[in-house]
Amino acid sequence: TVESAPTTQPIWRPPAGALWSGKWADGASAMPVRDPEDGSLLGHVTDTCPTEVDQAVTDVAAAVASGEDWPAWQRREALDAAARLVLRHRERLTEVISREGSKTIREASSEVSRAAETLRLSAQQTAHLTGETLPFSDTPRGAGRLGWYTREPVGVVAAITPFNDPLNLVAHKVGPALAGGNGVVLKPAEATPLTALAFAEIVLDAGVPADRLAVIPGTGAGAGRALVGHPLVDLVSFTGGFRTGNEVARAAGAKKTLMELGGNNAVLVLDDAAREAAAQAVVTGAFGVAGQNCLSVQRVFVASRIADRFVRDVVTATEALRVGSKADPRTDIGPLISEREARRVREWVREAREGGAEVRTGGRQQGAFHWPTVLTGVPADAKVMTEEIFGPVLVIEPFGTLEEAVSRANDTRYGLQTGVFTTALETALDLAERLRVGAVMINDSSDFRIDAMPFGGPKRSGIGREGVRYAVEAMTEPKIIAVRRG
Ligand code: NAD
Repeated sequence: TVESAPTTQPIWRPPAGALWSGKWADGASAMPVRDPEDGSLLGHVTDTCPTEVDQAVTDVAAAVASGEDWPAWQRREALDAAARLVLRHRERLTEVISREGSKTIREASSEVSRAAETLRLSAQQTAHLTGETLPFSDTPRGAGRLGWYTREPVGVVAAITPFNDPLNLVAHKVGPALAGGNGVVLKPAEATPLTALAFAEIVLDAGVPADRLAVIPGTGAGAGRALVGHPLVDLVSFTGGFRTGNEVARAAGAKKTLMELGGNNAVLVLDDAAREAAAQAVVTGAFGVAGQNCLSVQRVFVASRIADRFVRDVVTATEALRVGSKADPRTDIGPLISEREARRVREWVREAREGGAEVRTGGRQQGAFHWPTVLTGVPADAKVMTEEIFGPVLVIEPFGTLEEAVSRANDTRYGLQTGVFTTALETALDLAERLRVGAVMINDSSDFRIDAMPFGGPKRSGIGREGVRYAVEAMTEPKIIAVRRG
């Protein structure tokens, strides 16, 4: 059984169920927010309907179009203040993240630090919204002209976020959008709207003009679809699954779109690697947030000479993890976001087992909990190998040659990040060139990220790059001014 009882303390509540461009108010319908660990009711938020979405977008668009000056230095001060306020409200945010989502309180607290960092980086970018002069004299047709470009806001950014990093992934959209001088309408994940509303309250307290931000909780098919399809939305920034990404693309039509989608990340462990350190990094990277992380380690390919020992190291480190209530600071692995998801993970493990896989540890599910699970001997076509599992399941397979390791790591429709453990620098660099991903982490697991990196990847992992500077670039447009003399 799960080790300790969940807390029953009251939780922070937003002033109302939605934030409509600076005004807190409830919409016509409400939806419940529950703790996935025990199903207890935490509160209600607005289930925003398409008419209300239209109102929210229209108001933010009007604020942006009014041309009211919000200079870059004021944006910087507000975003810096927001970063400080996020840290000041660490306790409240940690609790809200952990109660409505699936993070343990330790994981939630470290997400608060990350979100403050993301806001701080966003503030910095307001000083780099620069253009350059253009080389008109480079061609006879440019003669007599002088010109440059500046960066202008795109206008209204629609932000759609997932449940697994409910604060920092909101900060990764709202921070850059505001830094670039835009207005934002945010539709947070169904499961985690309270975190987004708590964040919005802080951002407004920090001095962001109230009419620049709206937070409209609701369902994907309702509020989400209406938001991305709205004609006054200039850019859609979406983070979520690949299937949803397709729906968003259909609803958005030919709008500018940024997409951060899924991963099925591999780690390669070569026979000269620091084996025990690699095993520890793999376990942390595979099972943090119960594996519900786009950067989670899902597949490990290990040199056959050290494979047995490596599997033993991983199993030992996995069995040392404590599965338990999110509220308990000793807990390493909390529940998944729902019992349905935990059952899905169990089903995928069952399918692999029926195909001949061996469960080396874990394999148990109870309510929303799924124990961290290590599989070996998994058939190449099992879902745990080919799809994004988004749960605490790790596959380990031996490889013979480096060619085989690279081709198996690349054998996925996703391309977010790959980890490589080796002490041979040249080999590592050679592998890095051959891996088709957005980032190769040498002597780290696929799960390593800092918020300033250009983040994303090829194939089904998305469109464009997030990471503050790159998001600000995408959320602003060059505007050329050219002067013809005489
Ligand atoms: P999801 O795709 O189910 O939902 C994401 C968001 O999209 C939610 O807010 C949802 O309400 C909304 N949505 C659903 N249908 C919609 C529609 N038709 N129109 C508009 N919006 C709609 O994802 P999730 O379960 O919340 O999160 C898990 C997924 O997110 C995983 O695939 C994970 O890899 C991915 N993810 C990616 C990154 C990244 O940066 N690459 C980061 C975190 C999570």
